[in-house]
Amino acid sequence: MLNIVISGAPGSGKGTQSAIIVEQYGLSHISTGDMLREEIKAGTENGKKAEVLINDGKLVPDEMIIAMLHDRVQKDLAKGTKGFIFDGFPRTVAQAVALDSMLKELNTEVSCMLHMQVEHDLLIERLLNRGKTSGRADDNLETIQKRLDVYNTQTLPVIEHYKTTGRYKAACNNSSVEACFAQVKDIIDNL
Ligand code: AMP
Repeated sequence: MLNIVISGAPGSGKGTQSAIIVEQYGLSHISTGDMLREEIKAGTENGKKAEVLINDGKLVPDEMIIAMLHDRVQKDLAKGTKGFIFDGFPRTVAQAVALDSMLKELNTEVSCMLHMQVEHDLLIERLLNRGKTSGRADDNLETIQKRLDVYNTQTLPVIEHYKTTGRYKAACNNSSVEACFAQVKDIIDNL
């Protein structure tokens, strides 16, 4: 199975690159952010808990996200998926460890972590632009700054987790979607 973790700061283009990867490699796309927004829309208990945290730029608890991810992986496996792209997950080292053991039980593993690298000012510019049309309550300057702080303190250590296990790959996403995907394709095709 090909299992890719796509990581990067908010606004680094994870969703856009994931959509192209799904189209080209036929993987199941699991975006924990999208799953949480669906829970909020459906008014579930998880959705209610998550909404407050998301709107404040904070992460939702590991236990909730790991349980949701586990269910979703099982559902996609039952449909006969060839592999996964995990978008926005893992965001903490605890989530990375949980993902490793979840995949190990399935006799597979994370093939690589793709890190989308984007300059800080460009991230803010892209998120503010997205906020004009996304309707997302967290795409405003105050929450964007909180999300970037959370990324730097809680999610950057996840990169070390993959670096120390030799699965870290970086792609620069400061220019166009196409230029970034050319690097991503090269990385995936050489796995
Ligand atoms: P995203 O769409 O990936 O930018 O996620 C939007 C928000 O959902 C994040 O700012 C977090 O509050 C929450 N979220 C998404 N994925 C996770 C995760 N793996 N762990 C904790 N919180 C998450």
